[in-house]
Amino acid sequence: MIRDEKYLEIKRAIKKTLDKERYQHTLGVAYTAASLAMRYGEDLDRAFIAGILHDCAKNIAPAERIAKCEKWGIKMTDVERRNTALLHAKMGAFLAKEQYGINDPDILSAVAYHTTGRPAMTLLEKIIYVADYIEPNRDRAPNLKEIRSTAFEDIDRAVYEISRDTIEFVSKKDLADIDPTSKAVYEYYKNLHIT
Ligand code: FE
Ligand code: FE
Repeated sequence: MIRDEKYLEIKRAIKKTLDKERYQHTLGVAYTAASLAMRYGEDLDRAFIAGILHDCAKNIAPAERIAKCEKWGIKMTDVERRNTALLHAKMGAFLAKEQYGINDPDILSAVAYHTTGRPAMTLLEKIIYVADYIEPNRDRAPNLKEIRSTAFEDIDRAVYEISRDTIEFVSKKDLADIDPTSKAVYEYYKNLHIT
């Protein structure tokens, strides 16, 4: 499937819309997602294509984000209006469907939730959330080495560690900017892990 013309076409289009660095990150996410799919028994093609598409709205200029969401009928939370960078996830899911012709709801929600995650994620959602954080081009997050290894041992624990470190990182910048969903994800996966 991933070598079907339809998917090659998507890959070429994504390469054109994203800058070089973002495209390299995108490929890293796609291959890491496919590797996690091998480990956990998810469909490799779905994981790969979700990875290819996850940042497909990343090139939309900050000034256009809110207007585009309104035009496309995407509901925005207060946190998203304040921190419009968060919107690329929902907008990406919209484009994946409308522009790239993806109808698989699990692929679309994996794109929509890749930044914040959500409690009780599907396997594919967890794979994209984790792959986005650990792909080989990433180098700034703390505990990366540990989380990369956890990702292939216990994906729920990896989600817990990533949500924990994300909240810690964002709270150092501005506490008001923490998306309540990120907090809910942290609580959910922390409890899951303890019990
Ligand atoms: Fe992203
Ligand atoms: Fe990303």
